[in-house]
Amino acid sequence: MTFSSINPYNQRKLKTYRTDSLATIERKLKQADRAFADWSALSLRDRTNFLRSVGTYLQVHKQRYGELITAEMGKTLAEAISEVEKCAATCQFYADHAEAFLADQPIESDAAHSYVTYQPLGAVLAIMPWNFPFWQAMRFAIPGLIAGNVGLLKHAPNVSGCALAIEEVFREAGLPDGVFQTLLVDVPMVETLLKDRRVKAVTLTGSGRAGASVAAIAGSQIKKSVLELGGSDALIVLADADLEKAATIAVKSRMQNAGQSCIAAKRFIVEKAAKNQFTELVLHNIQKIRQGDPMDSATTMGPMARLDLADTIERQCRETVAKGARLLTNTIIRSGCNVEPILLDKVKPGMAAFDEETFGPLAVLIDAKDEADAIRLANQSDFGLGAAVWTQDAEKAEQLARQIQAGSVFVNGLMRSDARVPFGGIKTSGFGRELSEAGIREFVNVKTIWVE
Ligand code: NDP
Repeated sequence: MTFSSINPYNQRKLKTYRTDSLATIERKLKQADRAFADWSALSLRDRTNFLRSVGTYLQVHKQRYGELITAEMGKTLAEAISEVEKCAATCQFYADHAEAFLADQPIESDAAHSYVTYQPLGAVLAIMPWNFPFWQAMRFAIPGLIAGNVGLLKHAPNVSGCALAIEEVFREAGLPDGVFQTLLVDVPMVETLLKDRRVKAVTLTGSGRAGASVAAIAGSQIKKSVLELGGSDALIVLADADLEKAATIAVKSRMQNAGQSCIAAKRFIVEKAAKNQFTELVLHNIQKIRQGDPMDSATTMGPMARLDLADTIERQCRETVAKGARLLTNTIIRSGCNVEPILLDKVKPGMAAFDEETFGPLAVLIDAKDEADAIRLANQSDFGLGAAVWTQDAEKAEQLARQIQAGSVFVNGLMRSDARVPFGGIKTSGFGRELSEAGIREFVNVKTIWVE
């Protein structure tokens, strides 16, 4: 079997990759098992030094890896380079903080001496999507490896070049063989891998459908899973907000990466008094977007990553309009994976753009009567990844933030992942956390030592 990378901007085939044979998979699993014994026995300081080298290597080669990301999945080159830079910065962050995050924790008890120590689990399978092909994989791998685990990556087939490049990064940065390996395998092989005794846990970023299947198999094997599964984040704009700033950030949040981000602002919920002005400002910001070849520095939005994903956003848009939403931009204009940014008004519960995750350049406006109505609408979603509240009343903003059902809420700022703070969701956005201290503690044995 083979996987193909296709440039989404022009549909040209970039490369074909042969998937791993059963013998290759067995060899990689054996190697992971052997590597774990030595890697986990190293001191934490030694492992952090290796990851510092990974950060340096990424920084030096960001242009080359950025071009690969852009070619395979279509984000602009500037976005792709900054994705690689974010991975490098996260290496540095964990190298600086891992010792504090994983230090033994003394606990007062009846024992003469008791404490908690954090020990790695073994080989962790990472099933990753194409939208941030380096970042999604690295934000698991950096803390996971520093904690002493080894990584096996099953990436999305359309970014197989990135998948192999990530393995190359770890190898070239000097990590021992087998500490991080890429498997070119299809979905049915995931079950076999999860049932293998050498694979101890799994992390998946992607759709709810994929997450439910993987967590069910992991559950059947009593293996730990972390799921990061997209969202339909609300961005609430109250009447007293700085509307210019809110509109600029709202459009950036929704349209960056051609709208293909789990933590994008997917539902703009706007209080009545601010609606007209905010709508005009959003339209103005959308009109400034320059589509084109993502390798060209003048382009600010590239194509979507695959034709089927563009089909889905087009369907969601048409269905939402058919149910009564108003199209404020041009009629839906699409050429292959290139989809023009779309703005819909009067979106309501029961419409696809409200109820489903929209993964493309589609912004929607939802009317809220008042603050309470805005919170009700924000929470009227199966998802619970992130949210934002825009108001100049900081105290009120924090009260509202506490009422929103989400893994994170940003006040007057861009929703984003940041290595310093936990990232993850509730409801159908998944469970477990990535990044920060919480992320490095996901794939460890929290072991109690009690000495009488
Ligand atoms: P998927 O969830 O299908 O793919 C993500 C990863 O999971 C890929 O590596 C994929 O492999 C793998 N996968 C898919 N199904 C299974 C399964 N049953 N068992 C094990 N692994 C599986 O996402 P798509 O690329 O199809 O995108 C569909 C939608 O998912 C998007 O429109 C968006 O709504 C959402 N999504 C959310 C993301 C996020 O960041 N939260 C990222 C990507 C998608 P393979 O490609 O081989 O099927």
